[in-house]
Amino acid sequence: MSDQTTKPTILYIEDDQSSAALIERILVSFGYDLMIAYTGLDGIRAAIDNTPDLVLVDLDLPDLTGFEVAMRLRELGDFRKTPIIAISSQDTDEYRGMARVAEISSYLTKPINVQQLYDKIEQYLGDNDDLLIDIELDQDKNYFDRETVQHLLYKIRELEFANEELRVNNRDLVEQLVSSLRDAESTNEELRRLDQIKDDFIQRVAHEVRTPLTVLMGYFSVIEISPEIKALRQGQQDIDLYLSSLGEGFNRMRKVIDEIIMISRLAAGKVEITMVPVLLNDLLTSAVRPFEEAIEQRDIALEYTARMDHSISLVGDLDLLRLAFINLIGNAIKYTPDGGHVYISAQRDKNILRIAIQDTGIGIDPNDQHRIFDRFYSADSVMLHSTSKTAFRGGGLGLGLAICKAVIEAHRGHIYVESAGLNTEELPGSIFYVELPIEAQEELDKASIYESFN
Ligand code: ADP
Repeated sequence: MSDQTTKPTILYIEDDQSSAALIERILVSFGYDLMIAYTGLDGIRAAIDNTPDLVLVDLDLPDLTGFEVAMRLRELGDFRKTPIIAISSQDTDEYRGMARVAEISSYLTKPINVQQLYDKIEQYLGDNDDLLIDIELDQDKNYFDRETVQHLLYKIRELEFANEELRVNNRDLVEQLVSSLRDAESTNEELRRLDQIKDDFIQRVAHEVRTPLTVLMGYFSVIEISPEIKALRQGQQDIDLYLSSLGEGFNRMRKVIDEIIMISRLAAGKVEITMVPVLLNDLLTSAVRPFEEAIEQRDIALEYTARMDHSISLVGDLDLLRLAFINLIGNAIKYTPDGGHVYISAQRDKNILRIAIQDTGIGIDPNDQHRIFDRFYSADSVMLHSTSKTAFRGGGLGLGLAICKAVIEAHRGHIYVESAGLNTEELPGSIFYVELPIEAQEELDKASIYESFN
C-alpha cells in the first residue's frame, strides 16, 4: 500500500453497478478513498471536481467510451500525468492499441485479479512524476494514430446515434402498423357483417317478391291468351305496346329474382347437381335459343363455329352449364351495339375444351376484368351502352358472371376474359373463355360450388 499519509483518492468510472460495488469494497479495504461515476460524462465531471490520484475506467460505458474519457482527461492540463487504468472485458490487440493511443496508462482485463489490481494501483501511485504507459503491443502491427482513433470514435458515436434514431423510428412504425392493422381488422369485420346483412336482406326480398310476381305473371298470361282481350287488342296498337312492355318488365324482374335466388342457393351449397353426358352442340344451341328474337331485331350476326362438330361432349350438369352460357351469350349481345357480331367457337386441347364467346361490343376496362366475376359487380360505365333498340340494355344486377364462375369452377373449369379495354366509340370487344375438362367427372361436389363463393 502507498505510504502517503492522506488516503489516495481513486475515481472509478463503471456503469455496471455490481462490478462497481465489488471493486469499491476491495479498494476501500485496501485503504483508498473511492469515488464512483456510472457514466463517462459523470466521470469527467467528478475528475474535474475532485482531481483524483488515479482513475480506473471501464472501456464499455453507455455514453462515452473509456477511450474518449481518457482522451478528454488528457486534453485537460490537470490530468496529463494522472494514471488512468483501463478495465475491459475485451482483450484484443485493437482495444489495447486504441488504449495506447488514448494515452491510457495500463490495461487490465475482467474478471479482475485483485492482487494484480492492487499491485498496479500501488505501482502508479508510487511513481507519477512521468506518464508511464505499460500497455504492451505487438510491434509488427500498425496501430492507429490519435486522430484516426478520435475520428473512429466520433464515427462510432454518430452511428450509435443514427441507430438509436432508427430504433425509435422503427418502434414508432411498428406501433403505427399494429394499430392500423387492428383498425383494418375491425373495419373488415364490420364490413363483413354489413355485407352479410345486405346479402340476407336481398335474398329475403327476392323470396318475398317471387310469390306475388308468379301470381302476376299467371294473370298476365291469362290476359294475353283470353279471347276477349285478343278481341280488344285487334287494331289497338297502344294496348299491344302496353301489354308487351308489361310482359317484358315481368320477365326482367323474374330474371333478376331468379339470379338472386340462384346465387344464394349456390352460396349455401343447396343446388342439386345432376351429372349427365352433355353434347357441346346441344348445350350451346339451347343457350342461344332464348336470344334468337333479339339477335334478329338488333341485327346481330351470331356465328357459331362449333355447331358442326357433333362429337364434342363432356360430363356436367346440363341446366347449370346452360345457365352459365345463357349469361355469357346474353352479355355478349347486351354489351354489343346493334349491327355487331358475336362469335362462339370451341376448341379441344388435349383434355381441355376451350369455348370462346367473342363480341364486338364496348369492351371491358383492364381494371374491371377480374372484378366483374364478383357478386354484384357492375362496371360503372355500362350505362353508357344504350344504343340497343330492344330490351337488351347495359347494366344489370352484376350477378350473371358470378353465377357463371361458380358453375364453371364447380365443373373444375376456369373462366376468364380478354379485352383491350372499354371504349364505347371504337368497340374493342371482349372474349370470354370457358375451359372445361373433357374427361368424365364422376362426381361434382357441392363443396366446390360452395368454395367458389366463400
Ligand atoms: P350484369 O347483370 O351487370 O350484366 P354480369 O355479372 O353479367 O352482370 O356482368 C358484370 C359486368 O361485367 C357488367 O356490368 C359489365 O360491366 C361487364 N360485362 C360482362 N360481360 C360483358 C361483355 N361481353 N362486354 C362488356 N362488358 C361486359
